[in-house]
Amino acid sequence: MKRVHFEKLSRTDLDEYITLIVNNTKKTNWKILRSSIIQKTSFPELYPEDLGAFLISDFENLNKIYNDKQILSSADIKLAKKIFNYSEYWAKKIGDFFISKYEKLGISTCFYCDMNYIFPYNTIDSERRMFDLDHFFENADSPLTATSLYNFIPSCQVCNSRIKHDKPFNILYHLENEPDINDFTNISPSSENYKFDENVKIIISENSTGLGFFGESSKFDIIFDTEENDYKRVIKGFNLQERYNFPMIKKQALELLNCKRQFPDTRVQKIATFFNTKFCDVYSAIFRLDKDTEDNAVFGKLYKDVLKYND
Ligand SMILES: [Zn+2]
Repeated sequence: MKRVHFEKLSRTDLDEYITLIVNNTKKTNWKILRSSIIQKTSFPELYPEDLGAFLISDFENLNKIYNDKQILSSADIKLAKKIFNYSEYWAKKIGDFFISKYEKLGISTCFYCDMNYIFPYNTIDSERRMFDLDHFFENADSPLTATSLYNFIPSCQVCNSRIKHDKPFNILYHLENEPDINDFTNISPSSENYKFDENVKIIISENSTGLGFFGESSKFDIIFDTEENDYKRVIKGFNLQERYNFPMIKKQALELLNCKRQFPDTRVQKIATFFNTKFCDVYSAIFRLDKDTEDNAVFGKLYKDVLKYND
């Protein structure tokens, strides 16, 4: 699962985002709220005088602001909800911002599941989008980050509305018997530290009925394999393993694996040598998987891992 490429936005793009919000905000309100907060917080640097700088705080800082929320008084919360009133003032404008930057941000498949395409499209009179903008930290739980750029995760409606919705983290990540987490920097796709792909292998595993060379989909399971607790929580939270084990998805993964068995690397290399062409060109012609497909097509991670980790 990819990271949202916020680092690819230019200074001009960020200024565009800031302007769209700051120009419609009463600056005195932020001044009042900030002065109340900095009297109480141990981390005043998280709350710069410049509202624009606050809005483009990176995810690491958003995580700290989230953990700092216990200092907020009810008057602070009330004022924060007024200043950062996402649904009343900015939902459409922020949505349009993400539409206009979708290529830079790498928006093509859901950042949580990689199972559904997410993209903008045009009708005769307007630009629309086939995606939701999930608030990683929910507005009610974290009113200060409701319009912060790095808090938005473009996602499919299943992940955003049906699964994550406004569930508290302990429910979403099934934390009942585990200690609370306060560090979300490995978990949010908008964080620099999000390394799902490096830490999780999606593999095909024979179940007790035995896979066989031309195994049927009921004879194997798709497994999300990881040692990292953070990613175990994400996999569980978004029901990834259960959702990936739909028979048609398993069938396609198995077809790819069968193709790999017929064309091991040595055979691909022989073909490349015979036709005097590159290994990677023959490889992508056989498996229909090149870098672009891996990065931008649904199930890119699944197909890449099936070829990489299964023999
Ligand atoms: Zn999704």
